[in-house]
Amino acid sequence: MTDAEIRSKLGQLTDPELEISFDRLGLIRSVQTTSDAIKIEVQLPTPAYPGRERIGDLIGSTLGSSAGGRKMDVTYSWQVLGRETGGKIGLRIKNVVAVGSGKGGVGKSTTAASLAYGLKHFGAKVGLLDADVYGPSIPLLTGAKGTPIVREVELPNGQKIQRLEPIDADGMKVLSIGFLIRENQAVIWRGPMLHKLLTQFLQETDWGELDYLIIDLPPGTGDVSLTLSQLLGLAGAVVVCTPQKVALLDAVKAISMFDQVKIPVLGIVENMSGEIFGRGGAKAKAAELGLPFLGEIPIDATIRVRGDDGQIASLFEDDNPVKPHLLRMTENIAMQIAKRVIVDAPMPSLEIL
Ligand code: ADP
Repeated sequence: MTDAEIRSKLGQLTDPELEISFDRLGLIRSVQTTSDAIKIEVQLPTPAYPGRERIGDLIGSTLGSSAGGRKMDVTYSWQVLGRETGGKIGLRIKNVVAVGSGKGGVGKSTTAASLAYGLKHFGAKVGLLDADVYGPSIPLLTGAKGTPIVREVELPNGQKIQRLEPIDADGMKVLSIGFLIRENQAVIWRGPMLHKLLTQFLQETDWGELDYLIIDLPPGTGDVSLTLSQLLGLAGAVVVCTPQKVALLDAVKAISMFDQVKIPVLGIVENMSGEIFGRGGAKAKAAELGLPFLGEIPIDATIRVRGDDGQIASLFEDDNPVKPHLLRMTENIAMQIAKRVIVDAPMPSLEIL
């Protein structure tokens, strides 16, 4: 078999995780055969691809007999797939992902920060925007401190513009209204002001090139989501809820709100699973609504303590009981994002000769 034949044969395989063909995913980056080896470079759509060796196994079993005793050498690289919808407002961000909930106190901000650090843990370039303007808690959870400065930036065409510089939190760019107001200061937002602030936080901020920007939304209300939806097409929204029935009712409302403002829902995360609130309620609700279930985070004092200490990042740095759950959730969300990029993309139209 020639390299091109091997490539075309592998292109027809189905990805074990996403159930999309290798070709559509652009998974096979290169094929190179020598007298003693077949070298295949697999390019994953996200660094948070779980169990990548399954792809190598599939390639091995597909090419087994045609390898003619040659060594199979499969290597992996990654490049995040994204819609890059922020391009129209000058953003260079592949995927903008919102994290929302039907009500406060369910751990939405903790989940948003954990998702951001989880993606960073896998190697992606990530930013975290706190759009929970009524109760900004990202500065507290990340331990990030400082005042964002405004800097003059020169565009390639020579034009000079003002840009807000996010705060660096453990190598991640973070922005929150919490950095701009006094602690304990309540802020009352009128619609137009809120819209202006969010526009500034997105359009006039130096986010640089990112694979993912995670946005922590305010609970319940649709105003911020509507503004985001109008400003840029989101990759999708993650809905966080706790397992008990009353909380699930609010989650369903949040999902309906996202539908109304045309933000695709990536799925549901169950937070605080355990003895107190029960377990499995969100998974059952996701199944009932036909939405992906994105994982469960146990109720565990480690999370509360690290959050209070501004140490959410450290949940990924040492062995602790919640780390495997947070990694699994991160993988699930990253895979749903990749899937939607492919599935929602218009199919290339047939060329009629
Ligand atoms: P929300 O953004 O939904 O209002 P937060 O993320 O601010 O919620 O979390 C509310 C409180 O619950 C915080 O003190 C946080 O540390 C705690 N918390 C969140 N998730 C968990 C969990 N899985 N286990 C224990 N405490 C949690």
